[in-house]
Amino acid sequence: MSYASILSDRQIIRFDRVQYGLEKVNTDEIQARLDDFAKERDWEQFHSPKNLSMALAGEAGELLEVFQWLTQEQSQLASLSSDQLEAATEELADVLIYALRLADKLDINLQGAISKKIDKNALRYTVEASKGSTAKR
Ligand SMILES: [Mg+2]
Repeated sequence: MSYASILSDRQIIRFDRVQYGLEKVNTDEIQARLDDFAKERDWEQFHSPKNLSMALAGEAGELLEVFQWLTQEQSQLASLSSDQLEAATEELADVLIYALRLADKLDINLQGAISKKIDKNALRYTVEASKGSTAKR
């Protein structure tokens, strides 16, 4: 019995992620690839911030569809089928692709923006006031 045959599909997907070094995301490299992809197809004309933000929302809807009607328990990694996990993976990738493309078009430094937003949230949702609570502030 080979090592792969005793792994579940989900474990194989995880193994593949590690094996192919896909754990780390180089946003500059991905944005360059997306830019080339659009230019080769003459799609630049369609990639306005308005269209990209709408496409991002559409993909977020497709991601939501994967989990729609599942209970909280069923939506956990341990309960998802390999097909569900693959669908979630693809839709999440679509969301991030449009987010990266939009950030590129608006010249937004996403790493800086994310770091700044986390800092802002830390001040808005202090541990003392927010621990164990989902109340919006
Ligand atoms: Mg999609």
